[in-house]
Amino acid sequence: MNNSDVADRTQSWTASDLLATLRYWRVCGIDRLTGEQFGFAPVVEPKATVPIPIPTPPPPSLERLISEPVPLVARESWIAGLAQEISSCQQCRLSQTRNQTVMGVGALDAPVVWIGDAPQEEEERTGEPFAGEARAIFQGMVRAVGLDRNAVYLTNIIKCRPPGDRTPKPDEILHCQPFLFRQLELIRPKAIFVMGKVAIDCLLGPVKQVGQARGKVHFWRGVAVVASYHPVYCLRTPSSKRMVWEDLLLMQKTLEQDLQGCASI
Ligand code: SF4
Repeated sequence: MNNSDVADRTQSWTASDLLATLRYWRVCGIDRLTGEQFGFAPVVEPKATVPIPIPTPPPPSLERLISEPVPLVARESWIAGLAQEISSCQQCRLSQTRNQTVMGVGALDAPVVWIGDAPQEEEERTGEPFAGEARAIFQGMVRAVGLDRNAVYLTNIIKCRPPGDRTPKPDEILHCQPFLFRQLELIRPKAIFVMGKVAIDCLLGPVKQVGQARGKVHFWRGVAVVASYHPVYCLRTPSSKRMVWEDLLLMQKTLEQDLQGCASI
């Protein structure tokens, strides 16, 4: 008698059937039975626990990259690489007339990045944005909001001086814009103060005039942006200083509240 024979026969047995059969098998010399012989499922030993592999995290998305500040040491080396790239850039006609590029200057962990339009003669000569009288006005603006002038970063949307200090052309802005965006993503400031219509157009999209963008907080990839007049305009139009003062107060409030928005641009 094999195991399957016994199992087939025992499927519908009652207790008295079973007892009688056991006695019979005992007489026949069968003194040991297993559960399988009665059609019971064999006891399955639990398998050893196999460790669940920890999935490799996906590469960081742009959203995550821009929400997690890059360590300062990495910023320094990346900015140095970017400076090299800019200094050899020939993507637009301004590369033919420039004497040197003007990338930006300041602290790479600055809470505020100040953005103007394009370097002019004096800025190209010194290699730093906001030179001469415009620099003096700018420094007054920085002090007005209680910031250390060594703890800010200044840059322009265009890195080469347009000939005769003319307004940069749309295609020049388009070619140079990615450099500015990379700077901003590396520095990842708490706020951006963008000055003048050309710079506002580049960062926030076209506006008819500066006044259209003033008086509210915009967001560029989640960073708060306050728009105002360029220091050079303040030199030519003293009445604009009061409005710039209001814009600075708005930015100060923005910094205090540490506003963070969605990526609206
Ligand atoms: S303005 Fe900008 S895009 Fe044009 S050559 Fe200079 S760095 Fe390159």
